[in-house]
Amino acid sequence: MDLSAGIERAAEAFQRTRKLVTFSGAGMSAESGIPTFRDPGGIWDQFDPEEVGTGPGLLDTLSRTPEKIRAFADQTISVFLQARPNPGHLALGTLEQMGILKFIITQNVDNLHQEAGNKKVIEIHGNLFRQRCLACGAKKSFGREEFLTKFKTALGELARVDLSSIMEILPKCHCGSPMRPDVVMFGEAVQGLHESFEEAGDCEVMLVLGTSGVVYPAAALPQRAKEAGATVIEINPGESAYFGVADIRLHGKTGEILPRIVEKIRNA
Ligand code: NAD
Ligand code: ZN
Repeated sequence: MDLSAGIERAAEAFQRTRKLVTFSGAGMSAESGIPTFRDPGGIWDQFDPEEVGTGPGLLDTLSRTPEKIRAFADQTISVFLQARPNPGHLALGTLEQMGILKFIITQNVDNLHQEAGNKKVIEIHGNLFRQRCLACGAKKSFGREEFLTKFKTALGELARVDLSSIMEILPKCHCGSPMRPDVVMFGEAVQGLHESFEEAGDCEVMLVLGTSGVVYPAAALPQRAKEAGATVIEINPGESAYFGVADIRLHGKTGEILPRIVEKIRNA
């Protein structure tokens, strides 16, 4: 099926439902300047996820090669500080306003779906701008600029990067203990999984956006939707694990294709 015909079919499917659920991954935010996991030249080309992406790995790297942690934090902060919702995010905001989009389930931690106006977002890997107390578990949300700018300045002023100096510059909870970003690191439990599987099982159209589909258990959400009778539509310019699952595959970027689908619905 050519792209225009696929966009036409997707727009028809969207118009027939009020139960569209999306499942998004790093590709959704690629056009906002946040590199995907596997893109060449991205953050994960320069830093080993084993060294900086797991709790134990992070502590080990901090004690052996602390400058690596400083460089990783510096790069990550710069990337997330400048990122803004792209036309794909904004199109999903419009679809929620139209009463078509019921829920966004995202693996992204960048807050861009909310910044595009979506209210119903399940963030299974957490949110970089929400902090969680290491002692009592209380959570607190910060603005992107506020949190990243403060942390970048404090990090730059550290003479030495080690565990105790990092603990010092982390935001403090009302109980006095340090707070860490409420993101799910590799090996940690995902958030909102039960609710995500319920929404996937209850949707009529499942839209899979910019995810390679290899990070389980979340990667099974499109299959769950399909088994429950939903039409699965995928937008991705590259490869993914959903080749046999998607009923409609739209080969291209979410930032280009989603606005075209919204435009079709508006003009219908
Ligand atoms: P992934 O990197 O494994 O796969 C990205 C997918 O996006 C690929 O299939 C690629 O072909 C596709 N893609 C690239 N550009 C695209 C575009 N413009 N439009 C649509 N698709 C595009 O990402 P993943 O499956 O989300 O897994 C990576 C993990 O790392 C996730 O669990 C996520 O939590 C985390 N992560 C998050 C962010 C973020 O918050 N923005 C960024 C990187 C990684
Ligand atoms: Zn606390």
